[in-house]
Amino acid sequence: MYCKNCGEKLDDMAVVCPKCGCPTDNFYANGNAGDKRPAADDAPSAGFSVLCFFFPIVGLILYLVWQDTYPLRAKSCGKGAIIGVVVEVVLGLLVGIIAGVATCAAFAMTAPY
Ligand SMILES: [Zn+2]
Repeated sequence: MYCKNCGEKLDDMAVVCPKCGCPTDNFYANGNAGDKRPAADDAPSAGFSVLCFFFPIVGLILYLVWQDTYPLRAKSCGKGAIIGVVVEVVLGLLVGIIAGVATCAAFAMTAPY
C-alpha cells in the first residue's frame, strides 16, 4: 500500500509511514484509535474554564495533557486560557493607557505655565 499523505510505498503491515510519520489504515484497524478515543467521562467543564481563565499557563498545560484523553475538557481549558490571556492583555493595555493619561494630566497640572 501507499502512504495517503506523501505517497511513499509502505509495507502492508505498516501502521505509520516511516517517511512522514502519518498513521496508515492499519494504525486505526489495530485498535490504536481506541487508545485515542476520549474517555467516557469526558465533558466540557466550566470549572476548568474558569481556573484556566485565571491561570492561562495551567490551562495550556492541562490542554496539552488532556487533548487526547479528554478533548472536550481540554477544549474548555484551552478556551478559558485564551480568553484569560486576551482579557489580561486588554486590561494591561487599558491600565497602561490610563496610567499614561493620568501621568500626563498630573504633569500638566503641576507645570508652572
Ligand atoms: Zn507518508
